Amino acid sequence: MNYNRADKKLIKKINTVSILKIIRERGPISRADISKMIGLNPATVSSNVSGLLKRKLIKEVGSGESSGGRKPILLELNSSEIYVIGVDMGIKKVSAGLIDIDGSIIQKVTLQYPEKAKQENVLETIKESIYEVVKKEDDDFNKIIGIGMGIHGIVDIEKGLLSYAPAFDCHDVDIVSIFKNEFKTPVIIDNDVRVMALGEKWFGKAKEAQNFVLLNIGTGIGAGIYLNGKLYRGNNFGAGEIGHVSISDKKIKCKCGEYGCFEAIASGTGIVTRFIEELKQGSSSSILNRIDVFHITSEEIYKEALRGDKLSIQILKETGNYIGAGISMLINILNPEMILIAGGVSKAGKFIFEGVQRAVSKKSINNNLKFLYIGETDLKENAGIVGAATLIIKDIFSV
Ligand SMILES: [Zn+2]
Repeated sequence: MNYNRADKKLIKKINTVSILKIIRERGPISRADISKMIGLNPATVSSNVSGLLKRKLIKEVGSGESSGGRKPILLELNSSEIYVIGVDMGIKKVSAGLIDIDGSIIQKVTLQYPEKAKQENVLETIKESIYEVVKKEDDDFNKIIGIGMGIHGIVDIEKGLLSYAPAFDCHDVDIVSIFKNEFKTPVIIDNDVRVMALGEKWFGKAKEAQNFVLLNIGTGIGAGIYLNGKLYRGNNFGAGEIGHVSISDKKIKCKCGEYGCFEAIASGTGIVTRFIEELKQGSSSSILNRIDVFHITSEEIYKEALRGDKLSIQILKETGNYIGAGISMLINILNPEMILIAGGVSKAGKFIFEGVQRAVSKKSINNNLKFLYIGETDLKENAGIVGAATLIIKDIFSV
């Protein structure tokens, strides 16, 4: 092996990434300022910039302040010329976003899967969402440089497979080939919660964080974990399944077959189960004046809590305690600097946050609480599509 050549290639890659990063963070910026900021000589910056201009990843705009002599030409990301598609595949619905390379959303489409959807229906609905989001902007696929997909279930990122998704009874589906053939563009996939963490790292609150956890609490519960600045996937892509640790001796069965799992108790599904259990035990709620028991959802419980219904408020407050208990496990094991909460249940923050704080301070070791920040994600309900698009954006930036 020719080490010299390998080193040269690596150095070029590192330089390109640093230059793109500076343009993304500080643009519009001149070549001279880039050179000063990252300590590269002007000739190296110029040759890298030429390459980036040729590939239309950046563009020249106007001219900046001169310190005497010719005014310098400024550079910024060419976000209007190329787009990425970010797909967030959930358990009940799929969202597709048309996204700039600086992470801004141009268009978004959300479609529900048909009732009792199987693998085929799900894949068809995802394709439809991608066609629709591009059509909405009246654009063509020539400007799309790739599709990133955050997928519910266990995802083998090396083989491009959805290894297992219990909600649709999917096993070893070759997602990457299916979508590459359909849209004739590169496709990168990863687990849905992990891509949310990736999105927060690139475009959200966690830009500076080295050790953080994104906890997604929606229909299910999962965590995306960053350790020492890197996304942690585990030995065979199963890290972050915090939804299946036991947090309660309540006899509520989880979809994994066990009882008392964090997900079975504190997810949107868990909230409804506990609420109905209370009704069965004889508690009353004004929610039954509006809807019958079969149409109770965690969202309806939240709405009823806002109207002052005692049972709804009690169930949500208890949910806060359970979430705090789950979070304290992450705190004690990982000692992160930041925990970001995403997903539908986080919308009920008004009722759950106090319980979260109380359980966290009671159950976590003091040392690990010292510099810890716990809060909502920056990208909120768009964390999934922006994160998925980041799979492609990250790839371009590391050329
Ligand atoms: Zn479970």
